[in-house]
Amino acid sequence: MSVEAHVHYEVVIGLEVHTQLRTESKLFCSCRVRYGDDPNHHTCPVCLALPGALPVLNTRAVEFGVRTALAMNCTVHPRSIFARKNYFYPDLPKGYQISQYEEPLATNGWIEIDGEEPGGRSFAKRIGITRIHMEEDAGKSIHDAAVTGGGSSHVDLNRAGVPLLEIVSEPDLRSSTEAGAYLRTLRQLLRYVDVSDADMEKGHFRCDANVSLRKRGEKEFGIRNEIKNLNSFRYVEDAIRIEIERQARVLDDGGRIIQATRLYDPATGKTRVMRTKENADDYRYFPDPDLVPLALEPAFIERARLTLPELPERRRIRFESDYGLSAYDARLLSVSRSLADFFEAVVAARVPAKMAANWILRDVLQALKEREQEIEETKLTPEALAALLGLLDGGRITAKSARELLPELVDRGGDPTELVSVRGLEAVSDSALIERAADEVIAAQPENVQRFRAGEEKILNFLMGQVMKKTGGKASPGAVREILARKLKA
Ligand code: ADP
Ligand code: MG
Ligand code: ZN
Repeated sequence: MSVEAHVHYEVVIGLEVHTQLRTESKLFCSCRVRYGDDPNHHTCPVCLALPGALPVLNTRAVEFGVRTALAMNCTVHPRSIFARKNYFYPDLPKGYQISQYEEPLATNGWIEIDGEEPGGRSFAKRIGITRIHMEEDAGKSIHDAAVTGGGSSHVDLNRAGVPLLEIVSEPDLRSSTEAGAYLRTLRQLLRYVDVSDADMEKGHFRCDANVSLRKRGEKEFGIRNEIKNLNSFRYVEDAIRIEIERQARVLDDGGRIIQATRLYDPATGKTRVMRTKENADDYRYFPDPDLVPLALEPAFIERARLTLPELPERRRIRFESDYGLSAYDARLLSVSRSLADFFEAVVAARVPAKMAANWILRDVLQALKEREQEIEETKLTPEALAALLGLLDGGRITAKSARELLPELVDRGGDPTELVSVRGLEAVSDSALIERAADEVIAAQPENVQRFRAGEEKILNFLMGQVMKKTGGKASPGAVREILARKLKA
């Protein structure tokens, strides 16, 4: 039995997420935000905090923060404060990080999550957002001997000063599955509002997980442990599960939990203590004397509100009602904004919604999966897919030919009508040709013809398949069915 389903304890989880904002330049200077460039190329006196250099706030980052906060139903504060969080670390040689502490950008929001536990119990609930604040990222330490030559570590400060949002949830999550659902919903939202790539694998989206247990029915929360710097969905879920089991064992044995910060090691599948509360860091926060309080005019917040797109939840519901799609299909189609836009553009080009949904969810998604691409990274345009489906719907090509052409449209693009004629894929509705093929099949399959005539109607499909084969898959299925049925009944 999984400990999460433990009868004695209730699991309590709160997540802190750091996500990198997709701005051109850093939070307080004009250095570019770029990855993969030579180390320490994007630095200046401001992000290195050299004496006399003064930070200037990036307006775009503030816009992104406000847009995110509104999408997460938060109250955006007209006044917030940038503070110095003081600590030294090799990747933070300036000795402090500019963050927000006592007066953050936004507070008190929520998002909706849903999903299903491995055991089958489904959940749909609101998770509170305690606060959203802005801060700068630190640099990066490089220990990889392949880079350093071994025996030393390097520091790359290209990332120092890159804008981050920290999003802190209420302790409303009750299992690792709920935590995973929360993170996926959050990532989807960040991508919809177009402020962050929120790519965990690239370190754009990092998570600290706070986990505690309490006896069922108890009012007070238990003592929490915080697992730092989880950088994949798998790791978050695994680390939480492992931590729950560890705490349950301690409590079962009559022990007590000591508040600590832990690190998860995916190699051993264990968490280990990084520091305990007794020696918790004291960051000596104070308002950054180089920065005035951030004052947001109501008009600025309203402008940000106007730039919000239709959010995934709304869009999913509208897909169901406007296009008569199933809840399942509507959810899959609204998974990303680009896919949802693509679907609507195909429908706008006069393809029946059901047909567009079926082809996108089966054939297009399959092609994307094989190529590990997003729809916008391919050469497939909504117009081209609409044209292809138009040819299919009009009987000009068969489904088999449409399926054959799709990968080409995905990889190289082009005009489906032209491709069909160049490749000679026009559906054969030339009845003389189909009649001949049908006669041949009837002659070659006396036994099956007999069974059909004896009342086994489903044999017709098999015989149709044989005729299609003879015509190289190009015969229009309607014509084949009609001709074959007529001949068989004769
Ligand atoms: P800190 O900055 O010291 O980590 P915060 O007050 O910012 O402290 O809380 C961090 C996170 O811990 C929040 O997401 C909150 O929901 C969560 N949390 C607080 N108490 C508990 C608890 N007893 N069990 C699990 N999570 C908790
Ligand atoms: Mg914390
Ligand atoms: Zn700089």
